[in-house]
Amino acid sequence: MPDELGSQRRTHYSTDLSPAIAGQTVTVMGWVLAVRGHGAISFLTIRDKRGDIQVVAKSGACDDGVRQRIAALKPHSVVAMTGKVQPSEKAARGVEIVPDAIRVFSEVAKIAPFEPMAKTVKNIDTRLEIRAVDLRRGVLQDIVNARNMALRAIRDYFAESDFVEVHTPKLISSATEGGAALFSIFYYKSQAFLAQSPQLYKEQLTMGFEKVFEIAPIFRAESSRTPRHLSEAISIDLEEAFVDYNDIMDRVGRIVTVAADAIRKYDGLDGKLDVPEIPAEIPRYSYAEMMEKLESAGVPAKWGTDLYPSALQKAGMAGFYFVYDWPLGPKPFYVKPAVSGDKKTSESFDLMYGDLEISSGSTRIADRAELESRMKQKGLPAEKFDYHLRVFDYGMPPHAGCGIGLERLLMALTGTPDIKDTTFYPRDIDRLTP
Ligand code: ATP
Repeated sequence: MPDELGSQRRTHYSTDLSPAIAGQTVTVMGWVLAVRGHGAISFLTIRDKRGDIQVVAKSGACDDGVRQRIAALKPHSVVAMTGKVQPSEKAARGVEIVPDAIRVFSEVAKIAPFEPMAKTVKNIDTRLEIRAVDLRRGVLQDIVNARNMALRAIRDYFAESDFVEVHTPKLISSATEGGAALFSIFYYKSQAFLAQSPQLYKEQLTMGFEKVFEIAPIFRAESSRTPRHLSEAISIDLEEAFVDYNDIMDRVGRIVTVAADAIRKYDGLDGKLDVPEIPAEIPRYSYAEMMEKLESAGVPAKWGTDLYPSALQKAGMAGFYFVYDWPLGPKPFYVKPAVSGDKKTSESFDLMYGDLEISSGSTRIADRAELESRMKQKGLPAEKFDYHLRVFDYGMPPHAGCGIGLERLLMALTGTPDIKDTTFYPRDIDRLTP
C-alpha cells in the first residue's frame, strides 16, 4: 500500500538545502533518481523540480527499517524524506540528508524502459509512449524550463512594448492562405478546419488595438516526417499598425535577444545550456544577395525558388540572419508587393538560424481592391473571404507582422536537434497519442 500524503508537506526544495542549515530537520519530496550501495550503507538521489538531493542511510546513523526501505527503492518511485541536513563535501550543494522517516507515495515495481538520469534514449518512440516520465529526464527538464523562461521574457517584452494579447478562433470555415495543409473537422452539421495561422484575424485586430500578439497553437497537416515540423505547434504571432516589415524585423531581433538572455540566466539541471550569441544587429541579406551567395558557393540558384536547407548548408549559412525582399510569386496573397531592381519582390522576410526557418513576416496589403486582385492572381475565390474583406471598407491601417515558431526558436536557442523535444506531447503524421 502506498503511503498517504496526509497533512505532510515539503519544507525545502533541493535548492533550499545548504551547509547554512546543517543540523535542521527538513522534509523533501521528489522522484528517486538512483539508489546505490547495499548492506550497511545506501545512497539515494532524489530529484525535485529544481534539482537533486542526496540522502545517506548508514547503519547505526538511521533507523534500520528506514534504511531497508531506501535500499529496496527503484528509480522513478515517489517519496518524501524527513531527516537532518548534514554537511558533505562530495554531495551537490555541499549537504546530504540523514533520514529519520520515509514515505513512499508511489512505489515503482517495474524496471522502467529508461533511467531517469539517461542523457539519451535510443528509440524516441520508447520515450514518447510514456512522455510524462520522459519529461523528467534532466535534458528535457532543461528544455522545458528554458521554454518557460523564454515565454515569460517574450510576454514581458510585449507588455513593455504596449502590445495587447489576443486570442483568435482556432475553428475556422476556410483556409487562411488557400489550399494549404489544413485539418478538416466536423463542426455541428458542416465542415470546418483547424486554423493554420491567426493571420487574417490578427490583421483585423490592428484596426482597434494597433499592436497585438498571440501565443497559441497552429495546426498544419504536414505529410512529411522531418525533425522540424509538427502538426500542432505554438506560434508567437505579432501584428502592428503604422509600421512596415523593417520595424517588424527589429522587433523579431529584440524578441530573440530577450528569449536568449532569459535562457542564458537559467542554471540547468544538466548544467548551463549552450545558448548562441545573438549579434546586436542580426545580419540582413536580401533574397537577391542570397542568390549570389549560393551561386558563389557553387549551388544552382534559380530566382523564385525557396532557399532549401541543403543549399543553405552548402553555402555555409550559420547563426541567425534575416532574408528579406523575397520574390512575390510564392508569397501568400496578403503580403505587400514591391519592386526591387527589375524584379517583382515583396516586403517580406524570414528569420533563419543556419538552415532552419524560425520566423516569417511581411508588410501586409491594407487596401481591399489590391487584396482582392492578389487573391485572384493566386486563384483564390474572393467571395469565400468576404468575412475578412468587408472590414477593409472601414479603415484598415497600414500594418505589418510576423509569426515566430516557438518550438523552432527553442531548437535554435537550446541546440535541440529534434523539434519533438522542444514541445510536450508532439503531434505528427505518425502520432496522435499520448
Ligand atoms: P516551412 O517552410 O519551414 O515548413 P512555413 O513557410 O510553412 O515553414 P510559415 O507558414 O511561414 O512557415 O509559419 C511561420 C513560422 O511558424 C515558421 O517560420 C516556423 O517557425 C513556424 N512553423 C510553421 N510550420 C510549422 C510546423 N509544421 N511545425 C513547427 N513550426 C512551424
